[in-house]
Amino acid sequence: MAERIFIGVAWPYANGSLHLGHIAGAYLPADIFARYHRAKGNEVLMVSGSDQHGTPITIRAEQEGKAPHEIATRFHQEFLTCWDRLGISFDLFTSTGTANHAEVVQDFFLELLKKGHVYTDIMPLAYCDQCQRYLPDRYVEGECPFCGYPEARGDQCDRCNKPLNFNELIGPRCRLCGSAPREQESQHFFLRLSHFTDQLLAWVRQQSHWRHNVLNFTMRYLEEGLRDRAITRDIDWGVAIPQAGFEHKRIYVWFEAVIGYLSASKEWARLSGNEERWRDFWCGDARSYYFIGKDNIPFHTVIWPAMLMGYGGLNLPYDVPANEFLTLEQRPLSTSRNWAVWVPDYLERYDPDPLRYLLSANMPETGDSDFSWREFVRRNNDELLATYGNLVHRVLTFTHRHFDGCVPAPGELVA
Ligand SMILES: [Zn+2]
Ligand SMILES: [Zn+2]
Repeated sequence: MAERIFIGVAWPYANGSLHLGHIAGAYLPADIFARYHRAKGNEVLMVSGSDQHGTPITIRAEQEGKAPHEIATRFHQEFLTCWDRLGISFDLFTSTGTANHAEVVQDFFLELLKKGHVYTDIMPLAYCDQCQRYLPDRYVEGECPFCGYPEARGDQCDRCNKPLNFNELIGPRCRLCGSAPREQESQHFFLRLSHFTDQLLAWVRQQSHWRHNVLNFTMRYLEEGLRDRAITRDIDWGVAIPQAGFEHKRIYVWFEAVIGYLSASKEWARLSGNEERWRDFWCGDARSYYFIGKDNIPFHTVIWPAMLMGYGGLNLPYDVPANEFLTLEQRPLSTSRNWAVWVPDYLERYDPDPLRYLLSANMPETGDSDFSWREFVRRNNDELLATYGNLVHRVLTFTHRHFDGCVPAPGELVA
């Protein structure tokens, strides 16, 4: 019987072009997986979309003197072109900027609030006196209290991947002006994550089919115990909070972006002409797979499952096959240092298939892997052209010469 396979792929921030690390980390493996299951006769729903909210977009907009939605729209269009040309076969690639997404997020929020999984509290936020503004988490940098990485951000450490609060950073500084922010209190909504620790531990212990790195990271993370996390912020760019008194605040991007998997599925169902069809992929024996990079593991193995447990009635992830990182000429890819091969640049010069081949043959599944132009040329010339091209050429020549140019009917196999 045909299986139902839901495939959620990481939502790229619409603040810059995609690079090869994104493709090797999430999009290509997801596409291969989706094509395999479709070829097998299974029903597949593969969705993702542009993450249009959050400070990566507002930082870029401020740098360019543009409105955040202009930046988000520009890169969303670019992503769509990339998927088309690379052959990444999404059933829907939408964005977090749709009315449908806002509606689904607000419903999710209100349901968690009703069930007591979301509550209000006062929290200290970073306020920069120099810039006279609240600083969203990514506007604050400092030393990671867990691993000592000196450039950890106020929301997460890029080295040990642990989520953080800005006031846990050692020596925090404002990214805009460099001065030390001070704490200022503000009322916000919190997700009662602490309540889910035991339930999550029991669930994760059953996931023996997960990759070791994913399972180990998640277990270590849970064994330290979960703390409640704020899900709203003092910003004006994002999904509105459906509660009086919070008109000038927004739902924080990490909370609403993961709900995108569900909102995209509902949008797809509506577009397919059957509004309820999303349930086929979210309830019952459908299996859901999330393709992400390793920096996204806790959001998909801890936070999103906790949100789903709280909401109720929807499937938890079946597997989260997070990939490791791709390096470029042995150095980490870096958007801020412009050390990357950008997908639009690649596609201007070369065909997609040699890239898909190289990244598939050298995918960072169990450890980081490296991309170099020399290896790209070598694999193209030696493997695709000489080895595979030669095989195709010989088979065609043989068929042409001995079978009058027609593929013969298969004979009986002789042992
Ligand atoms: Zn760290
Ligand atoms: Zn400042």
